[in-house]
Amino acid sequence: MALYKNGGALTHTLDNAFDGTHSPGTAAPHPGIYKCTGCGDEIAIAGGHTLPPQNHRQHNTGARIAWQLLVYPVQQN
Ligand SMILES: [Zn+2]
Repeated sequence: MALYKNGGALTHTLDNAFDGTHSPGTAAPHPGIYKCTGCGDEIAIAGGHTLPPQNHRQHNTGARIAWQLLVYPVQQN
């Protein structure tokens, strides 16, 4: 599970960018931290970079690997 110390630096949102899951090997729609709904692994990735493929981690359960956005940065203009 992702950790943080200064919660005041994060903003809660209901943005639907956090609702979907993304297949391994596809482009990340946002930069940020993604969590695998299959095994709980977490990664940080730049926007447009490819999400880790099927072999990113061994699964004892055979759970489906699907990446879900957990945190994304807001860049100031
Ligand atoms: Zn996984």
